[in-house]
Amino acid sequence: MTTETTEATFDQFPLSAPMRAAIRAAGYQSPTPIQVGTIAAGLEGRDVVGTAQTGTGKTAAFLIPLIERLKVARQEGRADAAALVLAPTRELAEQIEGWARKLGCGLRTALVVGGLGYGPQVEALRRRPALIIATPGRLVDHLDQRTASLAGAAILVLDEADRMLDMGFKPQLDRILRAMPAVRQTLLFSATMAPEVDALARGHLRQPVRIAVGPQSVPPSRAKQDVYLVDREQKTPLLLSLIGGEDKNTVLIFTRTKHRADRLMKSVQSAGHSVERLHSNRTQAQRRQALAGFRSGRYRILVATDIAARGIDVADIGRVINYDLPGTAEDYVHRVGRTARAETHGHASSFAAPDERGQLTAIERHIGRSLPRERHDTPSVRPAFTGTRPAPEERRERPAFGRAAEPWRKAGAGAARR
Ligand code: AMP
Repeated sequence: MTTETTEATFDQFPLSAPMRAAIRAAGYQSPTPIQVGTIAAGLEGRDVVGTAQTGTGKTAAFLIPLIERLKVARQEGRADAAALVLAPTRELAEQIEGWARKLGCGLRTALVVGGLGYGPQVEALRRRPALIIATPGRLVDHLDQRTASLAGAAILVLDEADRMLDMGFKPQLDRILRAMPAVRQTLLFSATMAPEVDALARGHLRQPVRIAVGPQSVPPSRAKQDVYLVDREQKTPLLLSLIGGEDKNTVLIFTRTKHRADRLMKSVQSAGHSVERLHSNRTQAQRRQALAGFRSGRYRILVATDIAARGIDVADIGRVINYDLPGTAEDYVHRVGRTARAETHGHASSFAAPDERGQLTAIERHIGRSLPRERHDTPSVRPAFTGTRPAPEERRERPAFGRAAEPWRKAGAGAARR
């Protein structure tokens, strides 16, 4: 059910029988473009730089070769052969772990993310997992406590590298890279090839195969997009009228701050809708419950901030509503990309208050077209306004401590390229 598949088949890759069965069980008929390039290069042990967003099938693209290589390494007796997958957010890490379990054919995984207790993670890490899926801040904590060792982790995946750098994780990434075998296979994925991402790739990857799947900077063309010019105080009545209409599709609503998400959720709830919220002040259990409830249809509506919703893979979101415009045009593209996933059509509506005009202009410039203005029959709808742009909200995990690197135990699994 992903954006685009190809003429290629999974049979063209030298995959094990259990992996073929797992791919069939996942319902994948043919590989997506990012999978074609990444699986081939990954199985050969090559480094990969993939420019691809969520929705392109990139998770399976890196999981399939790394799982295959790990299985071979472990069968050959390298009991500590492991791979590390780093992702910017807990939700994305959890999703990756879910797929790793499905495709992993019994390989042991450890999910190492903030917001969950240390005890179970320490235990999971002690059991020499083949796959560690982590957010950078929490993994650094474990390295500092010496409850994690990356000495056998000869494969590294950096997922959404641009986002990890945006979130200020560079010191943690450096710390983690120092704790890994110098000889390893590295696969880096990023929605954009910003200069910092390029520098990271140049500094840490060896003659990578470069694979880009587009489009990178504009929302999917299947998504209908429009904008409502409204006063701030008209946003909630407008929202309630939109979600109260005939259309009973699932709705993902974005607000600028956690506080606004909380307040808006109360208004939506009072109007009789089934709604949850997703933001970084909520506990991991609450976030998981909100996402699971939204996926299963228990909640038709989810109110979220950008960071929390980044990368979430929920099929069939009928409509995205930008209650507040995002701080950057890139975030706009990501938000709109939550709808019109796979082959489905979606609808993204944005509310622009007078002080959000600058953001609207920046978004329209970025996507290269102006968004159609929808009329809303309140007296406050106005064609033009002036104002300033608010700062984007960002969640940062704990800063790094910058201790000395872990010593390498050995050169790593046969998964290493050289
Ligand atoms: P991702 O880009 O990894 O977030 O994947 C987006 C969605 O595409 C997920 O729901 C995957 O299960 C799905 N998917 C991944 N690979 C394939 C494939 N080869 N064929 C069909 N769907 C896929």
